Amino acid sequence: MRKIDLIEDFRSSSRIRALLRLIYKELDREINIMEVCGGHTHTIVKYGLNQVVPKGIRFIHGPGCPVCVMPKERIDQAIALSEKEDVILVTLGDMIKVPGSNSSLAKKRAEGKDVRVVYSPIDSVRIARDNPGKKVVYFAIGFETTAPMTASVIEIALKEGIRNLFFHINHILILPAMNVIIDRKESNIDAFIAPSHVSVITGASMYNNIVEKYRTPLVVAGFEPVDVLEGVLMVIKQFKDKRREVEIQYRRAISWDGNRKAQYLIERFFKTRDSFRWRGLGNIPVSGLQLRKEYEFMDVEVVFSEILPKGNVEDHQLCICGDILRGVAKPTDCPVFGRGCSPINPLGACMVSSEGACAVYYKYGAVDG
Ligand code: SF4
Repeated sequence: MRKIDLIEDFRSSSRIRALLRLIYKELDREINIMEVCGGHTHTIVKYGLNQVVPKGIRFIHGPGCPVCVMPKERIDQAIALSEKEDVILVTLGDMIKVPGSNSSLAKKRAEGKDVRVVYSPIDSVRIARDNPGKKVVYFAIGFETTAPMTASVIEIALKEGIRNLFFHINHILILPAMNVIIDRKESNIDAFIAPSHVSVITGASMYNNIVEKYRTPLVVAGFEPVDVLEGVLMVIKQFKDKRREVEIQYRRAISWDGNRKAQYLIERFFKTRDSFRWRGLGNIPVSGLQLRKEYEFMDVEVVFSEILPKGNVEDHQLCICGDILRGVAKPTDCPVFGRGCSPINPLGACMVSSEGACAVYYKYGAVDG
């Protein structure tokens, strides 16, 4: 029996063509599909799926890029921390390029501040161990996907008795944001392709309520072009059969219940905040995580409270990243897309991350399909 090639079989042009034939045959109405995750936006634009599906299928890019939705004031806090002489600021790749009010972590690093990019959060333990005279701050960002990794780093730090490692927690939850977007009815969403990385942790049953409440088909699909097109076909079939369900296309990674160990780690170290501010979406109740009270001795927002800038900070007046994240505008609607704003000199967060809609459109020269 032939082994399935997890990459090539899911990018096969013959399978893509076959799926497109079925999609053209089955589609009998217009459908606006929000792909919530920036990873799906990347696939859709990279492979030009938005240009080859029938005109009746419209992809609406969603808020599932954690770097993109993080408001400027949180970046400003990271920058303020990096300015302290006894602090080593540690974070993951894209974060350092995101513009704050007047600077970025990349600029601070160029000025000689100790800002370090790590491939895994666990590296922050080693950095703390190697630098006992410094305060090491891990700027933790991401959805439910990465929160368990931060939790396991906390667990290791506690086990090893490391006292100079602190956490700036910017973990957020996708479901409250999806509810807000569909509630506001600004972007006319008919169906969702749900975020798959998040679903690996939470399980697909998390979406049952949103489907019941709003009667929107929802498919958890994988990240290859065949996955996305299969997800679109499953959405079309739900409409044809008058079903409104949560379905899993990405069966090789997603279960209904998710990863219990990861859920336990989140539960053990974090609680939900009353509210968290998202770029473009504003304050969303219970949409962010923070450390539980018993761990506040490692919580940056407690330990470094006095030096953290307070208050909300608005985006550059020309940047429409917030509208893009709400699904009411496309990158090409921005007056400075590719002119004043590019990946080399990003004006807004959506131009930074490889999951950001503006960066994806820029990289692949996308036109709206
Ligand atoms: S192109 Fe740049 S300025 Fe325009 S919306 Fe995107 S990130 Fe903002």
